[in-house]
Amino acid sequence: MIAEPDGPEDRLRRFATIWSRAVFPVTSTPLTRPEFEEQLLPLARRLSEALRARTFDAEAAKAVGAALVDAHCTDPDALSHSLDCVDAYLVLYCGEDGPQEDLRTRCSRLQHAMAAGYAQALRERTLAEQEAIAQAALKAQGVVAQALHASEARFRAVFEGAAIGIGIADLDGNVLQVNGALMRMFGGGEQAVRGRNVREWTHADDAPQVWRLYEELVRGDREHYHVEKAFCRPDGTVLWTNLTVSLLRDADGNPQYQLALMEDTTERRLLNLRLRYEATHDALTGLPNRTLFFERLEKVLSAGENQRFGLCYLDLDGFKTINDSLGHAAGDRLLVEVADRLQSCATAPGEMVARLGGDEFVALTTGSDTRREVDELAARIMNALVAPVRIDGRELTVRGSIGIVEGPAGERSPAEVLRSADITMYRAKSAGGNRFELADPEADARAITRHGLTTSLPAALERGEFFIEYQPLVHLGDSSVRGAEALVRWLHPQHGVLGPDRFIPLAEHTGLIVPLGRWVLEQSVRQAREWRERNGDTSPLRINVNLSPCQLNHPGLVQDTVDILERAGVEPEALCLEVTESALIGADDDLLKPLRRLAEMGIDIALDDFGTGYSNLANLRRLPVSVLKLDRSFTQSMQQFPADPVDLKIVEGIVSLAHSLDLAVTVEGVETGAQAEQLRILGCDTAQGWYYARPGPPDRLHELALVDATG
Ligand code: C2E
Ligand code: CA
Ligand code: CA
Repeated sequence: MIAEPDGPEDRLRRFATIWSRAVFPVTSTPLTRPEFEEQLLPLARRLSEALRARTFDAEAAKAVGAALVDAHCTDPDALSHSLDCVDAYLVLYCGEDGPQEDLRTRCSRLQHAMAAGYAQALRERTLAEQEAIAQAALKAQGVVAQALHASEARFRAVFEGAAIGIGIADLDGNVLQVNGALMRMFGGGEQAVRGRNVREWTHADDAPQVWRLYEELVRGDREHYHVEKAFCRPDGTVLWTNLTVSLLRDADGNPQYQLALMEDTTERRLLNLRLRYEATHDALTGLPNRTLFFERLEKVLSAGENQRFGLCYLDLDGFKTINDSLGHAAGDRLLVEVADRLQSCATAPGEMVARLGGDEFVALTTGSDTRREVDELAARIMNALVAPVRIDGRELTVRGSIGIVEGPAGERSPAEVLRSADITMYRAKSAGGNRFELADPEADARAITRHGLTTSLPAALERGEFFIEYQPLVHLGDSSVRGAEALVRWLHPQHGVLGPDRFIPLAEHTGLIVPLGRWVLEQSVRQAREWRERNGDTSPLRINVNLSPCQLNHPGLVQDTVDILERAGVEPEALCLEVTESALIGADDDLLKPLRRLAEMGIDIALDDFGTGYSNLANLRRLPVSVLKLDRSFTQSMQQFPADPVDLKIVEGIVSLAHSLDLAVTVEGVETGAQAEQLRILGCDTAQGWYYARPGPPDRLHELALVDATG
């Protein structure tokens, strides 16, 4: 029989079983092992979900840690066994379909959070216990004095039986009594504690309030206090405790003794330190990882005035090739070697090196003169990479690209700084690599806006942030306005009005150009109808609309255009679609088919920017175009006087060829009357340019056309 493959539910159950077996022996739960497993199952499920959740959720893992305390897993071994189990099996049983490296990182963060939740719950529970003991002690207050000497039975039982350390001292600090648990915490020897004075137990890590609270208590100004405190054991090691000290008063209410309750937190602290280290260091190279680096950068960036920072963002050139050709093991060893070399470059105080992931490293320097230092740091790093790395008897050459960001604290967030460094690093890479570049706020801004614009384009269309300006097309013979070209703009909430050159390429890249282009067509056609209604039939204005190559390829083009015209009640003759020359170069019949269909219906097709590509003039015959739009560059060359005779000849030649093919010629970019006159003489039909009008709102065009018709 072939075993059924396990489903996720089976694997989760298996994980819970392993976990319960590991922890059950060290719990003090009244449950049986299978019952205990049932109790762990929902916790396992939470961990499994947190492992695969899209964003890291520390709370879930903390809750699991706390639930362990509730489930009577208060023995320190219960936590460490649980963590070992999570470490070894969680990814294995619950993380089947994710990228392993990410899951491992996530898993160690979960362990950290779990331990934190456990520690906190345990601490709260211990506090509650301490409180109860203190209450018991206080209740016995009347007899405490005797108890110290005459062994009051109940107090003695609490005192000796307690799992936490209990000690009693007089108000001068002389230790009178300690229980066994407290003695064991200090290493066993009675002489280590009894007969000593409390004030001797100072420790370098004492928080400032520790001794202030103590003085208040022994003066009788305070009933109790709670602190975290370290003690030196006789053998030189450190004991960390949660310490609660209460004041005991005599029957008349006068302060008489102090009662200390202490819980040993050394193990938990070490565990936390270890987990913290693991969560903040890269397992492969031992360097600080992204988390720690961000913490550090954040601190540096929020430092006061006159503080500056310098950051080198290094990415190895061609690392992927090494990894792919020599294998991951070799790649890993290379990274370790690089990490070592980097570390030796940043040894001064205020300097730090970290690995962000993959083959990306950062080096940070701080202080007041980072402008010079960061350059030197980058140079040291480049230098450190020069010597080849020997792996498996091969000499590998390592190269890297560095993006440098330097500046004052307090202006940017860590994410902004890192993004700037990243962009700059890419600039170094695209300049050929093996070099460093300094961040340039302008280049950054361009790249950042580019990215931002791309992501906000779709919403912009929905929110109606686009609008259209119209630029008149003027007949060169009689200077009448014959129509207008629709030019789209984006009123961006932050950047103001953006021209099409800023976003059309992005819209083409993302495909948004199709709905955007449809919208432009719809608006422009509607506008054309409005002009026609207002102008009457005396001078029917036509509308030119630009089409992107993507729109040409879109199967809905013909139908959409027909629908739009019909809905607006505008005849096809009123519309001219402008297509760039480059979009049609090498176009086969399939691509031309929709254009041909549109042309057959009576829509004009204009070849835009003519003369900028390398069109084969003979090719023109094949295309369904009826208008040539001569590129601005021809007009520009007529700016000087007298115009270049060769240019004039070229334009003349194009015009006569166009006319012989029955194509009308429109010229763009006419800025002066002299140009207009020259182009008229050369035989051009229509002109467009600032000389007549800049692109503007639709009403302006209406006025121009009216002036024209009446004047
Ligand atoms: P284009 O089709 O060549 O449009 C003419 C461009 O020349 C416009 O720039 C216009 O403002 C500018 N211009 C007009 N007269 C003069 C002049 O006398 N001197 C100078 N120096 N420039 C002049 P704009 O509006 O920035 O448009 C740039 C390009 O964006 C357009 O070039 C067109 O290719 C594209 N575009 C504009 N709107 C759309 C649209 O709705 N869809 C598509 N696909 N592309 C569009
Ligand atoms: Ca155009
Ligand atoms: Ca053009």
